Amino acid sequence: IFFESEQSVVAGLPPEIKARLSANENPFGPSAKAKKAIVEAMDKSYQYPFSNFKELFNKIAIFEGVKPEQIMVDAGSSPILRAAAMHFTKEGGNIITGDPSYADLPSTAEDYGAEIIQVPLTAEFKLDLDAMEKKVNDQTKLVYICNPNNPTATVVDTQKLKDFVERVSTKVPVFIDEAYIDYLEDPQSVTLISAIKKGQNVIVARTFSKLYGFAGLRVGYAIAQPEMIETLGRYTNGAMSVSATSLMAAIASYQDREFLDDAKQKTFASKEFLYKTLKNEGYNYIPSAANFVMFPIKMEGKKFVGEMMKRGVSVRNWEFKNQHFCRVSIGTLPEMQAFADAFKQIS
Ligand code: PLP
Repeated sequence: IFFESEQSVVAGLPPEIKARLSANENPFGPSAKAKKAIVEAMDKSYQYPFSNFKELFNKIAIFEGVKPEQIMVDAGSSPILRAAAMHFTKEGGNIITGDPSYADLPSTAEDYGAEIIQVPLTAEFKLDLDAMEKKVNDQTKLVYICNPNNPTATVVDTQKLKDFVERVSTKVPVFIDEAYIDYLEDPQSVTLISAIKKGQNVIVARTFSKLYGFAGLRVGYAIAQPEMIETLGRYTNGAMSVSATSLMAAIASYQDREFLDDAKQKTFASKEFLYKTLKNEGYNYIPSAANFVMFPIKMEGKKFVGEMMKRGVSVRNWEFKNQHFCRVSIGTLPEMQAFADAFKQIS
């Protein structure tokens, strides 16, 4: 059932690619402060990074209003998603997720023998929280909510999600993947860290890979109840998992509003250009809350991706609700121009 991962798609890209729009990366990052911190960190990088972890825990703890022992940091959020998949499904059971949604955690759980219950999105391409809640049964080990959702870039209603989480988390843990939340106007009003602060059984995963532009530097984190952090930590390399240079870069750019707002604004400008291109060619799209856009295509998905690739543009395809879709990540304006040039030839 599952689609190719972001990793397997970009790993095969030829070096002469004009526009790499297949892994939801942010070409406007990392920030100048992050780059400077990496250079400065080099001299001390013969040391193990234990104190760097502490410094980053403390920064996140202060900003989010949680305790440092409620935080784990790892090499991106992927190891945290995998830790949760392994822990919750090592004795079987099922995991509930959207269809389509980000496949990494559920597909890891499937590898470990869990059943995946995929719940189709609503007509607005949002996670169907009511339908997901109905699927929870006595074999359910975890509910996975990706908000904003990858690959549709849609967000669920915040109050509806908060109510859902309050009820469902009394039965099973709820894992909220907030990889793209930084692209929203006011992430602090949307994040489910608020539920963790109320004592609910919720895990929130975040990453520096997206708006911070750290996909290659590898820093991500999770916030949960202290016992949950301790449990998930057993499945990771803990304070050996991220390089001091990457940690220093994360510390230097965490909540750097000037950089983040600028990257967001550039992303929006490129997205507007993409919307116009699609409209001019007679295509609809799903309005996007993140740095990628999903739109229905008029060609078989794999063929479309192949035709774009022949023209030096890498995108991805999905098929659901009896329709082929293309997901295009938002790049620089020249990259979006390369997309537009290729798209006009085949649309
Ligand atoms: N979660 C979502 C929704 C993603 O789209 C991705 C990557 O594309 C990840 C998590 C994992 O990213 P990383 O391991 O770089 O934090």
